[in-house]
Formats: sequence, C-alpha cells, structure tokens
Amino acid sequence: MSGVIYVVATPIGNLKDLTPRMKEAFESADFIAAEDTRVTVKLLNHLGIKKPMISYYEHNLKDKGEYIISRVLAGESCAVCSDAGTPCISDPGEILVKQAHSHGIRVIPITGPSAVITALSVSGQNTGRFCFEGFLSTTKKQRMEHLEQVKKETRTMIFYEAPHKLLNTLKDFKNTFGGERSLTIARELTKLHEEIKLTTVQDALDYYTENAPKGEFVLIVAGGVFESEEKELTLDQLAEKCIKLMETENIPLKEASKKVCAKTSFSKSEVYKAVQSLRG
Ligand code: SAM
Repeated sequence: MSGVIYVVATPIGNLKDLTPRMKEAFESADFIAAEDTRVTVKLLNHLGIKKPMISYYEHNLKDKGEYIISRVLAGESCAVCSDAGTPCISDPGEILVKQAHSHGIRVIPITGPSAVITALSVSGQNTGRFCFEGFLSTTKKQRMEHLEQVKKETRTMIFYEAPHKLLNTLKDFKNTFGGERSLTIARELTKLHEEIKLTTVQDALDYYTENAPKGEFVLIVAGGVFESEEKELTLDQLAEKCIKLMETENIPLKEASKKVCAKTSFSKSEVYKAVQSLRG
C-alpha cells in the first residue's frame, strides 16, 4: 500500500504559530522534502525531531518529484514543506501534488499560515472577493502583460513582493491603477517589526522613496470601481444628462460638462459642444 504526502504549512515568522499537527506530520513522515534543508533543520531542531531530509526546490521539481512519488508508491510517507508558509503558494509543491493525484496518492493538508490570507485578513480592504497575483515577473514584458490583465480587476488583488523590487512595483501600480488607488502594505507579518499600513499607491510611493524598504511585503490593492454604465453612454446621451444636471443642480454648462464626462472616454469640451449643438 502506498504512503501519503503531508503538505505541511510552517510559520511565516513566529514560531508560536507552530501547531501540534505540524509536529505530528513531521514525526509521522518517513522523510521530509524541504525547499531548503538548512532552513527546515532549524525548525526540526526546535521541535526536537530528527528525520531524513531531501531538498525539493525550484530547479529540481520534476526529477525529485518523480523520486518522491516512487518512494511514496513503495509505502513511505513524505512531509513536504517550504521555508515558510504554505507549500504550493508561490513555493514548491504544486507539481508534486499534481503528480500525487495522478497516481492516486492521498494528500493530507496540514494547515497553517500563508502570508496571502494573513495579510488580507488585516488589510482593511474588501475581503468578499479577491484574487492572488503572486509575484510580478522580473521580465519587463511579462510584468506589463500581467498588470494589463488586472487593470480592470474589480476584486481585491494580492501581490507578493521583495523589498528591492518594491519601488518599481509601486511605480507600475501607479501607471496601472492610478495614484489614488487604495493599497494596504503588510510588512513583516507575525514578526517583531510587523506593520500594516492602509494607504494609497501614491502615498506609499512617496514614503518608500524616502525610506528604504526592508523586510517581507504583501501588497493588497483595492479592486477598481468602474462605472461601466457611464462608459457606454453615447455623446448625445451625455449631453442630455448634462442638460438635466444643469437644471437640477442649477450649475453652468462648463461645470456640468466637467462632472458628466468624468469616468467616460469623452472630454469636457466634447460634452460642452454636444450640448451646444443639441440646443441649436
Ligand atoms: N508560501 C509562502 C506563503 O504561504 O505565504 C510564500 C512564499 S513566497 C516565496 C515569499 C513571499 O511571501 C515574500 O516575498 C513576501 O511577499 C510574502 N511573505 C512571506 N512571509 C511574510 C511575512 N512574514 N510578512 C509579509 N510577507 C511575507
């Protein structure tokens, strides 16, 4: 009979987040597949556990995956973990879990922290619907394509980011979402210097231009609010709306056309002229 694969989450910065189930899974496993064995050995020492370990990381996923699966099919159980947080979430594990399913191997989740959910839960942003965007690519073209895809996103978006890339990412956010877009910066979660800042893209950009970013970051960007109805109005419809606004609010054409064209693809002078021509 084949063994099982435990997908073991580990603390993202605070050892007090270790749970009895995490300990139990490491103890039950015959071997541990760790992203970096030097990191995981410290955790195991803290738990007083000694286990054979193999490294399972970005550059050996396929071969090591097959090796792990063959051992599990032969009856051993494996605990897979990353340096911190939940495996498979911007970390190794996804391919192994797919391989396990394709061989009918049981996969057991050992739940624990993940920076994405931890950050979202304290972000102050809408949590009802959200999408996890992981890291933006370091390749300019892929990065731009990724941002273009989320430009019109209405759900809360969550990004991971490294400190040395934070400023560039904030600049790209400004170009994509605008400086006024609400943004929460969650830094060093569960650690000594934990910081959760509800701010805007522009204010964050100003702040980190002055203060060098340090530590680990999660960026939670508010979804966009797009008035699609307004966008679909024709110029004539906007002109009629403008005339109505002038009457109800008793404001001049110049002011009304400015209000009406906001969030449409028409300029205020186009609306202004359309009103004039409607009035003959
Ligand atoms: N698998 C992990 C998880 O479940 O959160 C994520 C691993 S990913 C390689 C590392 C990224 O997660 C960091 O660059 C940062 O964006 C985020 N992260 C991890 N720990 C964090 C923490 N304590 N505070 C803020 N962000 C964190």
